[in-house]
Amino acid sequence: MIDLKGKVAVVFGLANKRSIAWAIAQKLSEAGATLAICYQSERLQREAEELAADLPGTKTFRCDVSIDADIDAVFEQFKNVYGKLDILVHSIGFAPNMKINNVLRTPREDFRMAHDISVYSLIALARAAEPLMAEGGSILTLTYYGAEKVFPNYNIMGVAKAGLEAAVRYLASDLGTKKIRVNAISAGPIKTLAARGISDFTTILTAVEQRAPLHRNVDALEVGNTALFLSSDLASGITGEITFVDCGFNITGL
Ligand code: NAD
Repeated sequence: MIDLKGKVAVVFGLANKRSIAWAIAQKLSEAGATLAICYQSERLQREAEELAADLPGTKTFRCDVSIDADIDAVFEQFKNVYGKLDILVHSIGFAPNMKINNVLRTPREDFRMAHDISVYSLIALARAAEPLMAEGGSILTLTYYGAEKVFPNYNIMGVAKAGLEAAVRYLASDLGTKKIRVNAISAGPIKTLAARGISDFTTILTAVEQRAPLHRNVDALEVGNTALFLSSDLASGITGEITFVDCGFNITGL
């Protein structure tokens, strides 16, 4: 049993109960962490507050990670409310017009936004968290196998995820002397709001069922369990790693 009592965890990226962020939040809260949950905009506030009410002691905060002032303000709130952070989860990704553009046709502005929200935000959040992680900590993000291999319709998000995975390794190196670990989970496909932006997503789900060694798709709570492990002291020797939670799909050839 992992015990996170006395630890403060902040989870970014809650949209609704299907969000991977929600599965991770539940697991961190069950383990005893004091939890802060962040949502992007007022539109998501009620849903976030209703879900958070199920997790004792959890507070919600609004933060659009594409806005520096929002990041500064929310970390100021964390400092005032908690005085420190032990765990940060970045479960955020966005690429505009994924259904229209293949990589070749991606306009500069769509490329910029995909990388700003899906990659740079991890760097910005890690930088803001560092002073609050004076005793060390864990930073975790979510990636997908489309960073390594070409998947139909994943398009510019695949390019962004490759950047995100490289950022994990460089941040792990930058923050290692501060005892802050930085890792990513490469989750198998899960039906979430973000997944709705990918055309023919069910084709990917079906391929996993057919080919993955476990012959099924992963459940978000299984990603939550791995996030709990990676955020805990049990993973104290792991940093800069991309851990697959995909029912083994990534090991298959044909
Ligand atoms: P989701 O739609 O529930 O979560 C994505 C979150 O990103 C949302 O809460 C959204 O509000 C947030 N977000 C987008 N732009 C933002 C901004 N500017 N500021 C703050 N928040 C912003 O979907 P999800 O599938 O849970 O996605 C979470 C992460 O998991 C993403 O990085 C996604 O790429 C990754 N992932 C998803 C899958 C999958 O199949 N669902 C697989 C592997 C990795």
